[in-house]
Amino acid sequence: MAIEVTGGIIVNERGTVVTYRQKCERCGYVYDYNKTTIVPAYSTRSARNFTCPECGNYQEVSLTHYNPTRQQGSHRGQQGQ
Ligand SMILES: [Zn+2]
Repeated sequence: MAIEVTGGIIVNERGTVVTYRQKCERCGYVYDYNKTTIVPAYSTRSARNFTCPECGNYQEVSLTHYNPTRQQGSHRGQQGQ
């Protein structure tokens, strides 16, 4: 399983416990301290939004926990679960 982050970069992930750093998507500014949150399996969690100290961009932060083996958009027949 894997974590995808909007407004941040992954530092470490152990199961559903994710350590990340907030990152501005506009200018690329990355905070120099880590934050940790828990992302429920196969769902999205909104984390604390922030305002970039470099460019003033209001950056929303969300973390999505997904299964990389189950790719969306490439349906190759129903397997019927
Ligand atoms: Zn910025």
